[in-house]
Amino acid sequence: MARYIGPVCRLCRREGLKLFLKGERCYTEKCAIDRRAYIPGQHGQARKGKVSEYGRQLREKQKVKRIYGLVEKQFRGYYDMASRKAGVTGENLLAFLERRLDNVAYRLGFAASRSEARILVAHGHLLVNGKKCDIPSLIVKPGDTVEVKTATKEVARVVEALEAVDRRGVPAWLVLDKKAMKGTVSTLPSRSDITMPIEERLIVELYSK
Ligand code: SF4
Repeated sequence: MARYIGPVCRLCRREGLKLFLKGERCYTEKCAIDRRAYIPGQHGQARKGKVSEYGRQLREKQKVKRIYGLVEKQFRGYYDMASRKAGVTGENLLAFLERRLDNVAYRLGFAASRSEARILVAHGHLLVNGKKCDIPSLIVKPGDTVEVKTATKEVARVVEALEAVDRRGVPAWLVLDKKAMKGTVSTLPSRSDITMPIEERLIVELYSK
């Protein structure tokens, strides 16, 4: 399973936006976006020229890939799936990304970040419809349940993450039973459930070239 293992705050600084990749730290004054709000690297503070349309499209694609912790091949796979599905391709793409099991675990508050959620899933700490599932890329569907395994319910990191979920809120398409550490997918995610500033139209334009 390919994934980015370099410094993550650098990714936020490159996109000029908090991507919330580090869990708790993202809400403190240690956040690199608050402390060094310029592009990383030797020329990061140099005067910026006009960004081309292609540049905007590329940055948007990179931003979304980074939010969901995917590499190009995986991301392109979701785009291809989204373009084959009826409806608006950009919205289909975001809906697929949201429905990944690691994202659902993060959204439900079982982990402080998506990367932590991916580890939680990959190490077999979650049950999907009552059965162990260790596939972070599994796409959930309405009616599915996702819960923390009994033996993991006492793990401090999971308990702390769940306590902090109210700060970011659980999206309307998921129903969380906090006490049982269990979530249900009530419906498919809609565009309004994704609150990060994303212009998916630019990604579709980029890949349609
Ligand atoms: Fe991004 Fe979080 Fe690092 Fe801030 S602390 S730059 S939001 S990963």
